[in-house]
Amino acid sequence: MTENTRTPILAANWKMYKTSAEAGEFLRTLLGMIGGVEQRQVVIAPAFTALAAAASELEGQDLVTLAAQNMYFEAEGAFTGEISARMLQEFGVRWVILGHSERRHIFGEGNKLIGRKVKAALAAGLIPILCIGETLSEREQGNTLKVLEGQLEAGFSGVDSGDASGMVVAYEPVWAIGTGVTATPEQAQEAHGHVRDWLKKRYASDVAERIRILYGGSVKPGNVDQLMALPDVDGALVGGASLEPESFARIVQCETGRI
Ligand code: PEP
Repeated sequence: MTENTRTPILAANWKMYKTSAEAGEFLRTLLGMIGGVEQRQVVIAPAFTALAAAASELEGQDLVTLAAQNMYFEAEGAFTGEISARMLQEFGVRWVILGHSERRHIFGEGNKLIGRKVKAALAAGLIPILCIGETLSEREQGNTLKVLEGQLEAGFSGVDSGDASGMVVAYEPVWAIGTGVTATPEQAQEAHGHVRDWLKKRYASDVAERIRILYGGSVKPGNVDQLMALPDVDGALVGGASLEPESFARIVQCETGRI
C-alpha cells in the first residue's frame, strides 16, 4: 500500500452567513484556539463581502487561508452579479469551492458550467474544491456511483495531470448537507474509494494518490474523528458546524492519524 502523505484539509463553508465584523471576530477567536495545530490546512470560505476583513485578520500566519464560495469563468465583462478569479485573488484567496450542491440545485448550475469554472480557476492559479454528490433519490435508485462519475467527468474535463494533482474533490451527499444526517463510515468510504479509483483510471496512480478528497455533510465535533479515520477521507468541508469558533476549532483539532 502507498504511504498516505496527503495533508488533511479542514474547510469552513460559511454560505450566506457573517458580516465583515462577525467574520473578523470569529477569526480572532479561532486563531487564539488553534495556535499549536500543525500538519493540516485550514480553509475559510466567507461571503465575498467579508473577504477583506478576513484577509486582514489572517495576515502574518499561514495555517488558515481563504477560499471563495463560487466564481465565474470569464475574466471580466457584462456579467451582473458575478465575480472573477482576479477579483478574489486581490484578497489573497487561494481556493474556490465549485459545484456546491446549493449552486447546483438552487441556482441550476450544471456539470458543463462547473467544468468551465474549474478550468478558469486553474488557469488563474486558484485551487478548485470540486463538490460532487448524489441526491437521496439518486442514492435510493442505486445511481450514486454513476452520478459521481458524471460529475467527475465534467469537473476534470480538459484538466491535465499536472493540474489535477493539486485539485481537491469534496464528496458531499446532498441528503447529508444541513440535515444533521451524516453518511455512515461505510457509505463515505465507498464513495471516496470510488472517486479515488476513478481518478486512478483517468490519471496515473501517483496523481490520484495526491488528490485530496474531503467529506462534507453534517460534519460535527462528534463525528469528525470517525470520518477522518477512513483511508480515503482527507479532510472535511463543513457548513453549519463551522459557524461557531468552538465547534470549528474542535473539528480543526481532529485526530487525523497521519504524519
Ligand atoms: C456544506 O455546506 O458544504 C455542508 C457540508 O454543510 P453542513 O456541514 O451544514 O451539512
